[in-house]
Amino acid sequence: MPSFKPKIISDKKKTFTTWTDLCKSCGLCIHVCPVKCLSWDDKKITSHGLSSIKIDIEKCIACRGCERICPDLAIEVKPN
Ligand code: SF4
Ligand code: SF4
Repeated sequence: MPSFKPKIISDKKKTFTTWTDLCKSCGLCIHVCPVKCLSWDDKKITSHGLSSIKIDIEKCIACRGCERICPDLAIEVKPN
């Protein structure tokens, strides 16, 4: 049973939240990110049995492209 526990990563300017158990590992967020700060995390497996995503928060420009494109509402990006 998925727990829908958020994974929260932030720096001084923004907070990136992802819900691993909502993610179906489609890769759209990784594809759309203009600064390539998203990648696969092979150490964290989703409830679908696939790799989740991870972020290099310092590189993120908080454009919210990943949040908008995610079909499963598994990402939220907010300014701090
Ligand atoms: S908010 Fe923009 S820059 Fe940050 S991870 Fe998402 S797509 Fe990449
Ligand atoms: S777009 Fe959403 S469902 Fe697809 S890999 Fe990214 S977080 Fe997971």
